[in-house]
Amino acid sequence: MSRYSQLDRPVQFMKGVGPKRADALARLGIGTARDLLYHVPRRYDDASTVHPIGSLQVGMDATAIGRVRSKGVIPTRTGLRIFQAVIQDESGMITVAWPGQQWLDRKIRDGDVLLVTGPVRFFHGRQLHPREFTVVSRGGHVAEKTGTIFVTYPASEDVPQWVLRTIFEKNLDALLGWADDDEYLSAEELHTYGLPGLSAAFTALHRPESLPDAESGRRRLAFDELLFLQLVQAQARYRQTELVPGITHRRTNELVRPLHDTLPFELTEAQTRVLREVYADLTSPHRMNRLIQGDVGSGKTIIALFAMLLALEGGHQAALMAPTEILAEQHARNLGALVEPLGLDIFLLTGSLGAAERRRALDDLASGAARLVVGTHALIQDTVRFHRLGLVVVDEQHRFGVRQRMALGEQGEEHPDVLIMSATPIPRSMAMALYGDLDLSVLDEMPPGRKEIRTALRAPSKREAVYRFVDGEMEQGRQAYVVYPLVAESEKVDLLAATAEFERLGTDVFPHRRLGLLHGQLSADEKDRVMRAFLAGEIDLLVATTVIEVGIDVPNATVMLVEHAERFGLSQLHQLRGRVGRGAAESHCILIADAGAEAFERLKILRDTSDGFDVARADLRIRGQGDLFGAQQHGRDPILRYADLLRDEDLLIRAQDVARALVQEDPELSAPEHARIRELVEARYRDRIEMYEVG
Ligand code: ADP
Ligand code: MG
Repeated sequence: MSRYSQLDRPVQFMKGVGPKRADALARLGIGTARDLLYHVPRRYDDASTVHPIGSLQVGMDATAIGRVRSKGVIPTRTGLRIFQAVIQDESGMITVAWPGQQWLDRKIRDGDVLLVTGPVRFFHGRQLHPREFTVVSRGGHVAEKTGTIFVTYPASEDVPQWVLRTIFEKNLDALLGWADDDEYLSAEELHTYGLPGLSAAFTALHRPESLPDAESGRRRLAFDELLFLQLVQAQARYRQTELVPGITHRRTNELVRPLHDTLPFELTEAQTRVLREVYADLTSPHRMNRLIQGDVGSGKTIIALFAMLLALEGGHQAALMAPTEILAEQHARNLGALVEPLGLDIFLLTGSLGAAERRRALDDLASGAARLVVGTHALIQDTVRFHRLGLVVVDEQHRFGVRQRMALGEQGEEHPDVLIMSATPIPRSMAMALYGDLDLSVLDEMPPGRKEIRTALRAPSKREAVYRFVDGEMEQGRQAYVVYPLVAESEKVDLLAATAEFERLGTDVFPHRRLGLLHGQLSADEKDRVMRAFLAGEIDLLVATTVIEVGIDVPNATVMLVEHAERFGLSQLHQLRGRVGRGAAESHCILIADAGAEAFERLKILRDTSDGFDVARADLRIRGQGDLFGAQQHGRDPILRYADLLRDEDLLIRAQDVARALVQEDPELSAPEHARIRELVEARYRDRIEMYEVG
């Protein structure tokens, strides 16, 4: 039952907002009073960072606020036109200059109050050269300074800063009075979580007394959105794991023990820990839906195998699903070698089996003669029937959408446990935000004795020397990759670029080597053929666009050369680097970059760090979470507006706990006391909810 709140009223009926401004506000995503309340400042300047104009000195980097006393465009002898404004506060006046921006004369008016940030230089006296400025007040509506903290709202061309500030000036008291209509936490809960109530939080955000005050308000909104997101995911998790009966696997150790005894190595501590988590899921009546995250080479496959053997012990079949045929074959080969001493076989089911073979494979799956199965998407086709499928392992989860994950559960009478392996390390908080419907296990330790891959950074001018080095490796019988980024908006143009380079390298640089070309426009069959030739050693140098990211172990490949490395994300480069170093020989990753200082600093992280999780954290810090959510983002509304995955991990952990407990107690949030929170979740994450619904 939804109760009406003043916050639901259209923003058009707020003071100082008519139909025209309402349209402009709508383009900023503000349609209701609630949207306005949630439109919180993006920047805070406190008294210690806003300098009295009288105190500004040449050489300072300053933020100042002052009223425009005079302004105009000044021509110079060189023909450059400079827009200048003299601004004043109680302490003095200063000239603010914008060389070459004479058009500002139409934007800035006499009497406007400006907030400016930039260096103070000497030029006929003191001048401030703004990097950033906002018109914070026009027409004298707003005081120059409210309290000790100065707020700046996200504004637009249509709704400039001063308009927003005017609107807030007129409506904030009313908005804050309604803020508690949205409150869904009890005083007790607020106390436990150490968070302010909504009206206190919004007061702190819109009219902070101090920067920590504003931060406490932000944390409240961050908690709310993290909780709502986790609720959507906890509901999906509930439907996948609790609503359907799980399998209680019976562990006899008949197979698990012999595998332990025949392994030529000890499991790492991380592997042992993750295995314990997986066993606990398998032997519990709940259905498992677990993601294992670990860098390339961290030893995920062996964990998958132990899990599969445990499923077999209790009389079930187990299947491993890979994104490509070559990867499926690679898994079948590796796992086959490990289970042979146990007297077991691996059955392979891919799309390219002949009709007779396929018939036989399907019969074996249906009769249960095939106990350990490895395959591609072919495994989830309608015609495939299992005798008693008890566990599905999915390799490289990012290739499979949520729906496909769910489709795995639709096999047979029982609902098999699901284990997903991802070789894309991401920070834990990021994984929780993206995959909150899954349980997470992290393999954060590499098996001992792995050779480090040497990573080098080279300027384009050193390309010839790099080519000689690569040729030297090939001379010793080794193989190499050259990878090009997507360089243009159009795939056609990229293809041309990669193709042209392929021709050039083949004719001018490495005429005596065998080259192959791999790119996204090839059909799956063609890609497969090229990769097989490379794997078989029939190609020395593979020229590729980024399609090789998820890939194949080619132990003889020792060089990964990346062109225009500055255009890749760090995590992506780390993935590429993981393609080499799979054999005994020393391997190299060479990044050629048109590096300005900034790009160079960024790439140095990769040179100095081999841990994929560290790389991912650096990537998150540098690129920001919005970019990393990437394709997960729906439309313009970011998945997280207030929460910061680097700062708010504690909130996220709490939000997940609270969300899961709440869903356990009231899965559909249908109890009257949860009506408010259900509405808020639906309003905030409607598109996410749809994403988790099976079609
Ligand atoms: P991932 O699938 O995580 O990329 P793999 O499971 O393919 O990694 O393991 C990489 C290599 O390391 C394999 O050759 C595997 O046999 C080996 N390996 C796995 N665990 C250990 C360990 N604890 N000690 C030594 N080698 C290991
Ligand atoms: Mg693997």
